[in-house]
Amino acid sequence: MTISRRQFVGGAGALAVATVLAAPPVLGQGKPRLVVVGGGAGGATVARYVAKDSAGAIDVTLVEPARTYVTCFHSNLFLGGFKSFESLVQSYDGLARAGVTLNHQAATAIDRDKKEVILADGSRLPYDRLVLSPGIDLKYDSVPGWGKEAEEIMPHAWKAGPQTRLLKARLDAVPDGGLVVMIAPPNPFRCPPGPYERASMMAHVLKTTGRGKAKIIILDPKEKFSKQGLFQEGWERHYPGMVEWMAPSISEGLKSVDPNTGTVVTGFETYRNAALVNVIPAQMAGAIARNAGLANASGYCPVNPDNMASQMDSAIFVVGDAAIPGDMPKSAFAANSQAKVAAMAVRAALLGARAFPARYANTCWSLIDTDDAVKVGGRYAPADGKIKEVEGFISQTGETAELRRKTQEENLGWYAGITADIFG
Ligand code: FAD
Repeated sequence: MTISRRQFVGGAGALAVATVLAAPPVLGQGKPRLVVVGGGAGGATVARYVAKDSAGAIDVTLVEPARTYVTCFHSNLFLGGFKSFESLVQSYDGLARAGVTLNHQAATAIDRDKKEVILADGSRLPYDRLVLSPGIDLKYDSVPGWGKEAEEIMPHAWKAGPQTRLLKARLDAVPDGGLVVMIAPPNPFRCPPGPYERASMMAHVLKTTGRGKAKIIILDPKEKFSKQGLFQEGWERHYPGMVEWMAPSISEGLKSVDPNTGTVVTGFETYRNAALVNVIPAQMAGAIARNAGLANASGYCPVNPDNMASQMDSAIFVVGDAAIPGDMPKSAFAANSQAKVAAMAVRAALLGARAFPARYANTCWSLIDTDDAVKVGGRYAPADGKIKEVEGFISQTGETAELRRKTQEENLGWYAGITADIFG
């Protein structure tokens, strides 16, 4: 029964039929059960949309240990002094109002045979469909000399919360003439323009607080990066001599860091006594997804581009940073977009609701200096077995100040809109 209905909704011509056949596929039980693990950009969106759009016909539980969610998105604007930390903190009250049951603990394992999520207190949550949106885990062993024990000295701030505040405090303590080194991550990673927006915000703070002789060196394992021409133009214009980006062909690669002395060694040079080293390590899907056998050798989870279902288990959907998103970047915008496709697929599978063909969208805005923002984005659809870009756009170098100011207005409007869409 379940399988035939899911086959129905996969074909556009059968959509009307699927709408009529609304009997729950899980007979002999109460309401069908959706469990969502991870209450971030992807998971909170799925939970809220399924609860809202099924009007109580699906029992939705969100498993998330944190009582509030701190957005990584716009955390660079906090670093740059453009936003307060408090403005990044989101409440789960809107999800509860939409009918989502909140279970504030971590999921420790998935029993795929029994279709149960095992929680930190040992209890088990049965599901008919499961959505995983656990975000990323950091590869603590990817930077020689650095590790979990060193993250208080050389912060990553790639998961928002105490690390975000720590990085801000450390930036505020950099003296004029001080050296900041950022270790940028290899692909694929959360928020491709994020490190370079962060460097811009660091330079902004240093310059506007009388520390214009400080220097920021970005050591990158990549030969090119997102919106490169736009960032480099902006650094030249706003922060001449302050930001230096090094491709691996120039730095000859990162060899090691020493958190005790603030030393960073590359093949080409040794940087000593850095006032701040921001290590953004390599990344992979959150452990709960990897340990459930849903990731491939890349460390991320392959999904069906039509509906975000795992390629390893069709009862489980993986959205957000943990998934392999084809041409989409790992962003909150993308996670929210994928989540809506997954929410629709869940309602189709559990209620026989109508499923439209999957369409995805993304835009990533980056602030370079006050009122000077740029963006990159696109629209995406399933094609050739992946989520494929069908249309793209990017800001241009040499744009007017007015256009850049409007782009920043869009950026602020987007944050207000997407947090309302995710959290209600
Ligand atoms: P997350 O939002 O990280 O949510 C994962 C959740 O899962 C967390 O709440 C975690 O506690 C929970 N979780 C993990 N494991 C378990 C478990 N076992 N049990 C229960 N819960 C669990 N994106 C944009 O679109 N625009 C931007 O401007 C932007 N700027 C960024 C700037 C920075 C500095 C960074 C680091 C990121 C930025 N991003 C931006 C990216 C964006 O934050 C992520 O892509 C997005 O949060 C991914 O959503 P997610 O749901 O996959 O993961």
